[in-house]
Amino acid sequence: MSYKIIPLVQSRIAAPLGVPFYLGDMRTLVTSGVYIWHIAGADEKIVVDAGMEAPGSNGLVHGFPAMGGGEIGTREALAKVGLKPEEVDTLILTHLHFDHVATVDLFHNARIIVQKKEWEFAHYPTPHMKGTYDQTALSKIENMDLVLVNGDTEIAKGIKVVTLPGHTKGLQGVAVDTEKGTYLLASDHFYTYFNIMPPRQNVEFTDLAGAKLSLAPSPLPFLPIGLHVDLTDWFESSYKTLTITKRTMIIPGHDPSIVGKTFP
Ligand SMILES: [Zn+2]
Repeated sequence: MSYKIIPLVQSRIAAPLGVPFYLGDMRTLVTSGVYIWHIAGADEKIVVDAGMEAPGSNGLVHGFPAMGGGEIGTREALAKVGLKPEEVDTLILTHLHFDHVATVDLFHNARIIVQKKEWEFAHYPTPHMKGTYDQTALSKIENMDLVLVNGDTEIAKGIKVVTLPGHTKGLQGVAVDTEKGTYLLASDHFYTYFNIMPPRQNVEFTDLAGAKLSLAPSPLPFLPIGLHVDLTDWFESSYKTLTITKRTMIIPGHDPSIVGKTFP
C-alpha cells in the first residue's frame, strides 16, 4: 500500500520554550499547532489523535493559552479531507496527553488503538505528569472499542505502531509506508524538527502566532524535549527511530512549519 500522511490543525497551544526544548527559556512562549492526522489511501478510514478541548473563559487549557479546539476544531480539521469523526474506522492515539484525546468520543464507531503501558501510566502518572492527563477523557475511552496493544503492532498493511517511550511511558509513533519510503509520525517524542535535527548554530524561527524566536546551537545527536518521564529511554527511542527510517522522514508532533503539508 502507498499512503499519505496529512496533518490537520485542530487547535493552537502556547507553551514556554522549555516544553519543546529541554532546559529552554521558561518565560518565552512558543505557539504551535495541535494536529489530527489523516492517513489517506487506506480502505479503512484511519486517523491519528483526537485533539484538544476548547479553552474556557480564561483562554487556557490545562494552564496553557489555547485557541480553537473542541468538537468544532475536530470537525473543521477533518472536513478539510472530507471526513467526519463518526465515519472513522480506526483511531490511533499516540499517547493520552490532554491535547491528543479530548474529542475521542466523537469517533464512536472507531476502534481506539492505545499502548497498554500508556493506558496504565495515564491512570497512575508520576506527579509531574498528573496535569497533562485528563481522567474524564480516560473514562470516555473506557466505554469505547478500546484496543490495548503491547509493543510494535501492525494496524493495517504498511501501517505499524512503534513504541517510543521517554516522553511518556507508552507513547507510540506510527510508521507508514508511502511511495517515497517509510515515514515515521513520531508524535510528541519529537515536538519539532529541531528536536530531530538539533541546530549546529543559532537559529531563528517563526511560530504559529508570528512571533520570532531563536534557539541556541546544540552538539547533541537529538535535542531532548523538556517534558519527559525518562531521558535515557527517550534517547534510546530516538536511536530506535533511525532503525525505522531516515532522519528526514520523521514527522514531529507539534512543529509549526507542517501546516498545510502532506507527506509525501
Ligand atoms: Zn502533544
